[in-house]
Amino acid sequence: MPKIGILALQGAVREHAQALADLGADPLDVRVPGDLAAVDALIIPGGESTTISMLLDSAGLREAIAERLGDGLPVFGTCAGMILLATEVVDGRPDQRSFGAIDIGVRRNAFGRQVDSFETDLAITGLVGEPFPAVFIRAPVVERAGPDVEILATVDDEPVLCRQGPVLVAAFHPELSGDLRLHQLFLGGI
Ligand code: GLN
Repeated sequence: MPKIGILALQGAVREHAQALADLGADPLDVRVPGDLAAVDALIIPGGESTTISMLLDSAGLREAIAERLGDGLPVFGTCAGMILLATEVVDGRPDQRSFGAIDIGVRRNAFGRQVDSFETDLAITGLVGEPFPAVFIRAPVVERAGPDVEILATVDDEPVLCRQGPVLVAAFHPELSGDLRLHQLFLGGI
């Protein structure tokens, strides 16, 4: 049973833990560097990327996570988690920092500018069956995706689910819709 860490500093932690438990994986809250040693993969949840960035430093977790990411740790970032894994962030706070683990440029709070939150059905490459119900909450827009980035789903031609090697990122919240297929896809790649 793979042990999946969930960065538990702020945001939608419980919902990811429930999805993982429902799939038979073993979720572990990551709050201090020592927690990382035991995990086979990591989820960085949605929340507020500015706050999570600040808490990464006060918890002493930034270096420890960067090191595991450098060694190819599988990671799934959702919404704020996508921002924290991106190479470039526009409209962030000047002191916010990201891991640069996937070659994308994102703009915070810019997806579907006309509404803060919405739900839509997505066709996702590699998922069979029904479209995926995707919940967007003050979501980042992907303004640039590098040549090695696979785009697995789009909304109005904007990428909303991307993968580069062991790094999977979603602009939306798959843990909120009760559909476990994206967590399953992530676990399948570990
Ligand atoms: N707007 C948030 C941010 O910039 C992300 C929102 C979310 O994770 N639902 O971090």
